[in-house]
Amino acid sequence: MKILVLNAGSSSIKFQLFDMDEHDVIAGGLAEKIGETAGAITYRTIKNGSENHTMKEHIVIKDHQAGLSRISELLLDPEKGALEDANQLQAVGHRVVHGAELFSEPAEVTEQVMKDLKKISFLAPLHNPANLKGIEIAKQVFPNAKQVAVFDTAFHQTLPPHAYRFSIPKNYYEEHGLRVYGFHGTSHAYVSRTSAEYLGKELHTFNAITVHLGNGCSMAAVKEGKSVDVSMGLTPLGGLIMGTRSGDVDPSLLLFMSDNLGLSSSEIDKTLNKESGLKGLTGDNDLRNILERYQHQEEDAQLAISMYAYRIKKYVGAYIAALGKVDALIFTAGVGENSALIRALVCENMENLGIKMDKEQNEKVAKETRVLSDTSSNVKILVVPTNEELEIAVQTMQFL
Ligand code: ADP
Repeated sequence: MKILVLNAGSSSIKFQLFDMDEHDVIAGGLAEKIGETAGAITYRTIKNGSENHTMKEHIVIKDHQAGLSRISELLLDPEKGALEDANQLQAVGHRVVHGAELFSEPAEVTEQVMKDLKKISFLAPLHNPANLKGIEIAKQVFPNAKQVAVFDTAFHQTLPPHAYRFSIPKNYYEEHGLRVYGFHGTSHAYVSRTSAEYLGKELHTFNAITVHLGNGCSMAAVKEGKSVDVSMGLTPLGGLIMGTRSGDVDPSLLLFMSDNLGLSSSEIDKTLNKESGLKGLTGDNDLRNILERYQHQEEDAQLAISMYAYRIKKYVGAYIAALGKVDALIFTAGVGENSALIRALVCENMENLGIKMDKEQNEKVAKETRVLSDTSSNVKILVVPTNEELEIAVQTMQFL
């Protein structure tokens, strides 16, 4: 079975084609700068685990329709293609950021589902409209494939009300759906399942704290394989300190910015989403650069790193309390997979909470799933490289 995974953003389309018999990626790439004067398509095919064909073409990509049509041409190309004909493609799995309370599982995209998705787009105005555009066009370009939507929020639909409700007048929830939804669900689901398998545990008996640290960062408390709490809230702004997002702040800060500093709601939105987090503290949102400055004892970088790790540590403490028994603390995504320093700062002085790191294991550079905890640690500390595209493909296949 061949499944194409699409992640359509406002000006890009990321794609990966999977052969699900082996769970292997056989082609993939990115159409970027859609609608701009100079766009580009990167495309590669993979055979027996290594790159078979790679190319980057600089073309104007007028709109998403043009981008996806070109991707389809490349996938079907007699020389550099990975599909012999379009009918080989059983399904397209679409990443959809927000599924609100309507979607706790993947869904085949019917007319009704499209209507429902449009209705909830206001909850993720930066993401859902682009995801929907991707679906609409994929239906035209791949008419014989089933279109399946896989939601970032779905994994967190198991949160109990005491974790997802805000303590504000209840009509805001009942009439407007204002509650914690949580994001990065495919990643939290993937690393939980992979860790349980790696440790030889049944997922339904497995408790974990999953720490996804990319440009966006979030944590989840996973009890018996199900999400019971998550650090992001109504939108992907809450919780941890991120590349450009503030994470948790006292809500009165927003009122102060508005009433005392005269910022408009869109200026506040921009400040908290695009100019805060690591960028706000250091001027740079790329942790690699900040780590370099940290090594040179640069003050802003040191403060930013301390704040970033401290926020994660506080959530680890909270989720130990929420879960009671914790089998594993799992780090993933760009920072979680690569930064030994961040992992070490998070796990420092946590022995009383059952977390003890093996320093040497933590320092090792590797690409695969591995254990970083000392043998005396009650909680296993793991690094699991995330694979959100594979998770979308697996969920799409299971749905079919
Ligand atoms: P995205 O959320 O866009 O998928 P990634 O998961 O790729 O993001 O993570 C991006 C973050 O990971 C950036 O802050 C980047 O600096 C950081 N990162 C990537 N490689 C390393 C590394 N070797 N050491 C430290 N941080 C890294």
